[in-house]
Amino acid sequence: MSVQLVERRGYLGGRASSYLHPGVGEVIDNCQHVLFGCCTNLIGFYQRIGVADRIHWTSEMTMIEPGGRCSQLGPSWLPAPLHGVPKLMSAHAFTLADKIALARAFSALMRSVPHGSTESLGTWLRRNGQTKGALDRFWRLVIASALNADLDSIALPYAAKVIRELFMNSAQAGSMGMSTVPLSELYAGAAEFLAQHDSRVLLNANVDAVEWDASAQKWTLVTRAGKVTSDCLVLALPFEAMGKLLPHMPSVPGADALAQQVRSHEHWPICSVHLWFDRDITSLDHAVLLDREIHWMYNKSRLQPWRKLKSSYVELVISASRTFAELTREQAIAQSVSELAEFFPEVGSAKLEKAALVKEVRATFGVPPGIDAARPTAVSPWPNCFLAGDWTATGWPSTMESAARSGHLAAEALSESMGAPRSFLNADLKPRGLMRLLTPKQRK
Ligand SMILES: Cc1cc2nc3c(=O)[nH]c(=O)nc-3n(C[C@H](O)[C@H](O)[C@H](O)COP(=O)(O)OP(=O)(O)OC[C@H]3O[C@@H](n4cnc5c(N)ncnc54)[C@H](O)[C@@H]3O)c2cc1C
Repeated sequence: MSVQLVERRGYLGGRASSYLHPGVGEVIDNCQHVLFGCCTNLIGFYQRIGVADRIHWTSEMTMIEPGGRCSQLGPSWLPAPLHGVPKLMSAHAFTLADKIALARAFSALMRSVPHGSTESLGTWLRRNGQTKGALDRFWRLVIASALNADLDSIALPYAAKVIRELFMNSAQAGSMGMSTVPLSELYAGAAEFLAQHDSRVLLNANVDAVEWDASAQKWTLVTRAGKVTSDCLVLALPFEAMGKLLPHMPSVPGADALAQQVRSHEHWPICSVHLWFDRDITSLDHAVLLDREIHWMYNKSRLQPWRKLKSSYVELVISASRTFAELTREQAIAQSVSELAEFFPEVGSAKLEKAALVKEVRATFGVPPGIDAARPTAVSPWPNCFLAGDWTATGWPSTMESAARSGHLAAEALSESMGAPRSFLNADLKPRGLMRLLTPKQRK
């Protein structure tokens, strides 16, 4: 089967991409993207397109308080789900009361939460006696920023899933991966893979309309680079692009219901601040920054040593903050540098050589209670047409893993419609240790 990939932009990667920033003259990611060991479909995709060796893996997470005191989270020799307990218990970032509150919450979330639960994470945390320290330094910082929304806007089953996958199922599931090359370079592997498989990529080809010829059983995409015909169509668009295209698709029963689903989604922003200093400001690769507006620090000079910079390059990520997203460039950079100095005193004596701010206002879709009803399956209302994209019904929040899963689910729906059903979805990682006894059987 030959595939034609039609892309609006001049490069691949979508919301996970990099580009030459004209203001600083450096290739930067639109934002640091992290994956985890539990992202089996994304990792499978990286293996298929030959870029899996470009991911740097780590199991350690350093939390830093203003003033510089560090706490280390990570696995130990204990079996899952206890593997993270020793380091959590010795973390200075949490008081004894915080640790007890966290341990109680973790054990309550150990079993899966009913998928139909309509409770928000915020309500559940209030019911489950979480302390201020646990709320501010763990739930808001680690979980709400992983799901990129406020605690009250997160459906409990999604939070429970993140807790189980990242902290309980196994040390491998929770290990964190970061690309050692710019994101677009990572995804360029997909173009090479397609070229080797009798397929092609059409760039700068925004799809403006889609037509169905029932007698020829063919789809035609009207794009800015000309018309493209095909037997089958997979629409792998973000929800707002799907919403824009819907009025330019054939009218069929079910299209209005899909439009209604699209309208139910909401965006959350992520900002990243890229800073180049004349010297190293830390020997850490990455860190979680507590109690301030800046949340995550990625030391790009260390994660991407091929850059061979004379200066040091760090990227700060600010998740789910609509107030930060409203700051001007100057305000955002000044606030970031001043907060960064509270964690790394070397910032005070270092010279800031250049800086860039990237605001992604439409970074991710939210996962509030009830959102699953607005996530369509891969089967669309149109013949030989399938839906993909992170916002479709994958069971995962807005992540690269959700996008990879959606592609695999669309391929399964397509092959089934052709009368040759095949399985493409990769199995989840098996829980280890005691978690094996607590987890329901999986699909494969
Ligand atoms: C700032 C930021 C930080 C993030 N951090 C993380 C992270 O740490 N970890 C993680 O897993 N995920 C993260 N995400 C989310 C992740 O990027 C997305 O979940 C994932 O990229 C979604 O992939 P997708 O293929 O579903 O959609 P997209 O990546 O949005 O791809 C859709 C593609 O469709 C194209 N398109 C749109 N309209 C048209 C049209 N009419 N015609 C032709 N082409 C069109 C777009 O140009 C785009 O290339 C982050 C996202 C952002 C923005």
